[in-house]
Amino acid sequence: MLNKKLLSNILFSMSCVFISFTLASCSTHQKITPLPTPIITQLKAQPLGPMLPIPVQGISQKQLSDTWGVARSHGRKHDGIDIIAPRGTSVSSTTNGVIASLKPNTLGGTVVWIIGPAGSWHYYAHLDTLARGLYVGQQIKVGQRIGTVGNTGNAKHTVSHLHYGIYLDGKGRGAVNPYFYLYGRR
Ligand SMILES: [Zn+2]
Repeated sequence: MLNKKLLSNILFSMSCVFISFTLASCSTHQKITPLPTPIITQLKAQPLGPMLPIPVQGISQKQLSDTWGVARSHGRKHDGIDIIAPRGTSVSSTTNGVIASLKPNTLGGTVVWIIGPAGSWHYYAHLDTLARGLYVGQQIKVGQRIGTVGNTGNAKHTVSHLHYGIYLDGKGRGAVNPYFYLYGRR
C-alpha cells in the first residue's frame, strides 16, 4: 500500500516536471541574449535628445497632445504620452538602443522596453504586434520598426494608441514628459 502511494507520488512529481518543462519550452520561443555591455556603455556616453522623432508613423507634431500627468486608476498619474493612431500603424524606436525587455504586463499589454542614450529607458505599450524576430539584447537603430499600434493591456476598452514613456534613471524610474522630447520646448 505504502509502495503504491510512493509510486503514485513519484509519477505525479514526474508529470509535474514534464508539464513545467513543456510550458517552459512553449514560452521561450523568443530569442534572449545577454544585454551587450559594450553597446550599452557606448549608449550611456551619448546624449538623449533634446528632440526625438515621433514613434508612430504618419503622426505629426501638431497631432500630439500632452497627456502627461493626468489621473489614472488607483491614484496613479499618467507617466507617459498617448499617441492615438489606427491599429496596425508602425511603431518605431525614437532612439538608438538595445531591447531590454519584451515581457508583457497587465497594464501595458504587449510592450517593448529599450535602453537608449544617456542611460534612458523607453517604454512602448499597448502594442498590437511586435516586429518579427525582435529579441531581448537586440541592437536597435533610431527609426527602426519595433511593432504596431494596438490596445492591449488596460487599453482594451479604449481606442488604439501607443503609450510612450521616457525614464531617465532606469526601468520605470525618473519619468519625464515625452511630449517635450517629441514636440520641443516652446
Ligand atoms: Zn498612456
